[in-house]
Amino acid sequence: MTEGANPFESLQSQIDEAATHLEVGDDVIERLKHPERVLETNLTVELDDGSLERFKAFRSQFNGDRGPYKGGIRYHPQVSRDEVKALSGWMVYKCATAGIPYGGGKGGIIIDPDDYSEAELERVTRAFATELRPMIGEDRDIPAPDVNTGQREMNWIKDTYETLENTTEPGVITGKNIASGGSEGRVEATGRSTVIAAREAFDYLDKDLEGATVAVQGYGNAGWIAAKLIDRMGATVVAVSDSSGGVYNHSGLDPVAAKDHKNETGSVVGYEESEEELTNEDVLTLDVDLLIPAALENAIDADLADDVQADVISEAANGPLTPKADAILEGDVFVIPDILANAGGVTVSYFEWVQNRQRFYWTEEKVNSELEDIIVDAFDALVETLEEYDLENPRTAAYVVAIRRVADSFEEAGTFP
Ligand code: GLU
Repeated sequence: MTEGANPFESLQSQIDEAATHLEVGDDVIERLKHPERVLETNLTVELDDGSLERFKAFRSQFNGDRGPYKGGIRYHPQVSRDEVKALSGWMVYKCATAGIPYGGGKGGIIIDPDDYSEAELERVTRAFATELRPMIGEDRDIPAPDVNTGQREMNWIKDTYETLENTTEPGVITGKNIASGGSEGRVEATGRSTVIAAREAFDYLDKDLEGATVAVQGYGNAGWIAAKLIDRMGATVVAVSDSSGGVYNHSGLDPVAAKDHKNETGSVVGYEESEEELTNEDVLTLDVDLLIPAALENAIDADLADDVQADVISEAANGPLTPKADAILEGDVFVIPDILANAGGVTVSYFEWVQNRQRFYWTEEKVNSELEDIIVDAFDALVETLEEYDLENPRTAAYVVAIRRVADSFEEAGTFP
């Protein structure tokens, strides 16, 4: 991550690139490049020792033309206003790519959760939920998990919201645990769509996934599930990494055992099946058939892109390639863009919301089969557009589809006031 691309500028350049292929007016494109509003707030929270600490937090509501704002909340020291704006925009185009009836939003708190107790994290989360309360709701804006947040935080936000509103509204947030109204299959959904999309890409490129070699950078929820599921599809996961470094075995690692090692020690590093320790950069530039970046933005910049050897990249992370890296890889590597590859997370969030509203819950088989249909349809639409517009870059094709859908709903409704 040397180039330090601003993710918000990356988002805008992706929109501009796709817009050159579309007959959508510049004035409408301009609207689609900026968030409608951004909340910036300072949370004052009491720590366990009785002292107070200030935490800066954001929620960006980027676009609501196709439905309520939708997107996760991230806890990370590198959260910034521009990062949250970019992530909220990517949610707009992700929901449009998947064809689910949402706009896009995103939130974040500048915090390293490892530095705080569970009780402190609960107070931080409930403070943020209190700030968010007037702007969220099941028809308004629906948060969800993202980096370093999960069911625990979603349950706290739901409970805070419902208590303050004196109501029952489980659909105000998704990614809850099952007892709080969560959906079967939600935890695995991001990793699942990443590998479904990879399988479709291999099929399209006439490549065999059976025996294909895979490297996974980032071993959080998205990365480790993707590793587990691609292994089950018959591919060979030769390398995985987390923020401490990576491990490699030429004949394949056991993704579940590597995860157990991470749970026990805090990292995949030191995992006993490893033949060799690698850096994250080594993992990203391995000679593999499939690379899954599953950590943060800008993992692959222009310098690193020259050394990427994978044939296919399936982006489990949001924004893992800088625009320069994307341009370098264009034509050589088939990159399944984040707004399709990791759309499984928000898609099963949508299923969770539908179930919450109907008070009727689905089996895991139904969730997974509906998810499969949505990702396969989205991939087919991408390929159709790639061919129809004679494009080289699958990301541009995905944006062409998505921008068309958002612009259509905006233009149908017109402006008010
Ligand atoms: N944080 C996930 C994403 O970036 C999921 C968002 C959601 O479920 O609303 O897509």
